[in-house]
Amino acid sequence: MSAQTEQAAAAAPKTATKSLLVRGYEVVIGFETHAQLSTSSKIFSRASTAFGAEPNTQACAVDLARYFVDFLCDESCGKCLPCREGLKRMREILDRIVSGKGEEGDLEVLQETAALMKDASLCALGRTAVNPVLSTMAYFPEEYAAHIRQKRCPSLSCKALVSYSIQPERCIGCGLCQKNCPSKAISEVGEVCVIDQSLCNRCGICFDVCPPKARAVKKASRGDGAG
Ligand code: SF4
Ligand code: SF4
Ligand code: SF4
Repeated sequence: MSAQTEQAAAAAPKTATKSLLVRGYEVVIGFETHAQLSTSSKIFSRASTAFGAEPNTQACAVDLARYFVDFLCDESCGKCLPCREGLKRMREILDRIVSGKGEEGDLEVLQETAALMKDASLCALGRTAVNPVLSTMAYFPEEYAAHIRQKRCPSLSCKALVSYSIQPERCIGCGLCQKNCPSKAISEVGEVCVIDQSLCNRCGICFDVCPPKARAVKKASRGDGAG
């Protein structure tokens, strides 16, 4: 953990009762009240499906926050404005960030929205719904910065921020990627396959089906040489 992250972690909320391991670190989600525990259990069972219950070295902290906020948007009854509109606003910002369209100032808006929701929401759901966002911002500030400033997802899990390419020197020309590509983005050039980036939808199927003995499909951050 970087010194900056350690400092942020030390400043993170201490009252929370639930946590999740992401990229090897414990992320405190923070549902303190008894009433919220049933909600958090539901979230955690869904989160386990999405991210794995064990320490997960692949999950993206920003996408994790987006996932929780999206879930809580459905859970909010909509009776009071801070929770109803605050959650929608946070979801819209997090959707943009994981799509590579984050802007300077987004983190400040998330902080301000969270403060308003904590102060003015009518019940515990709205007051604690901000914790996944605040916790991940406190523990993984460098991941938010990478998404917003460099348009990179360090864990290579945000679909919009990754690309796939085929390393010709490793390709054995088996054609499995071409056969399984849903976008018909792969063609044969000589004895190897190549990806047309303009057709690729970044589903990752070619990466999954390429035989282990070849491992010719490379997954990388967009702009880092995979496409
Ligand atoms: S804070 Fe509670 S009352 Fe207000 S909209 Fe959210 S769930 Fe409903
Ligand atoms: S990532 Fe998906 S769409 Fe893109 S080339 Fe691979 S299989 Fe085709
Ligand atoms: S699956 Fe892998 S080895 Fe086979 S053609 Fe595609 S990139 Fe080459």
